[in-house]
Amino acid sequence: MRFATVEYQGRTFVSSVDRSSESVTPLVMRDGSPVSDLMEVIRNQARFTSLYAVDGKKIALSAVRLRAPLPLPVRNIMCVGKNYREHAKEFAASGFDSSASGAADAIPTTPIIFTKVPQSVIGPDEPILYPTGVSEQLDYEAELAVVIGKAGRGIPLGSAMAHVWGYTILNDVTARDLQARHKQWFLGKSMDTFAPMGPWCVTADEVDLASAGIKCWVNGELRQDAKFTDLIFDIPTLISTISAGISLIPGDIIATGTPAGVGIGFKPPRFLAKGDTISMEVDGIGRLTNPVQ
Ligand code: MG
Repeated sequence: MRFATVEYQGRTFVSSVDRSSESVTPLVMRDGSPVSDLMEVIRNQARFTSLYAVDGKKIALSAVRLRAPLPLPVRNIMCVGKNYREHAKEFAASGFDSSASGAADAIPTTPIIFTKVPQSVIGPDEPILYPTGVSEQLDYEAELAVVIGKAGRGIPLGSAMAHVWGYTILNDVTARDLQARHKQWFLGKSMDTFAPMGPWCVTADEVDLASAGIKCWVNGELRQDAKFTDLIFDIPTLISTISAGISLIPGDIIATGTPAGVGIGFKPPRFLAKGDTISMEVDGIGRLTNPVQ
């Protein structure tokens, strides 16, 4: 199923999105009351059919305002650095990678994990605010984001996928100058509006990781195009690595890394400017678009 968080006629509620993506239908409790937070559904996934119903009239997608499916995640979004080989190489060659000491360090041998604050999340079509006076090197990163459904610590590889509730798309917006200058990536990754998310969440059964991929366009020009089979560290490895010492909880989000084709991959780099529009698409999910303002 696909779940969106929508605003319609002054109310915010969770809806099911039909497969053609042209309409939404409110998700309600069995007593008919609306569901205002997708987190409730994720926490109650085992009792979904007994607690919830897709009910009421269909609403045209064009009539609602889509918000981020999880507008304020339960805690920091966990992100993976350099998780596609070609991107790791372009990043190392760009001179912006303060995490590597040379070409030999370009391809990581263990996952690099950093986080973004929950308050950096914005929804589809909301503007990424250009941080004038703070950064002059804004970049985009199209990523598949995993939404954890089942808590766990010390999760073994073999059962890791059972902890995945679903997926969404995340733009890991990055200020390259801050990322390089401050060594730790947090400041350059976590500014206000730096985590566009959406357009909705889909349950894990709707994305075939063996065949699906991700694409990203800037002003209509294709910049990124990769398959998830290209990930250096696959989703079970990421879940197992993170959960080794940190308990994962329902609603945790893991952004799995971005493929080659980001702005610093070009010579000279092609940074974002006010007025640019970034669109990203994942097979089985949909398209997330945000302007820079
Ligand atoms: Mg990233």
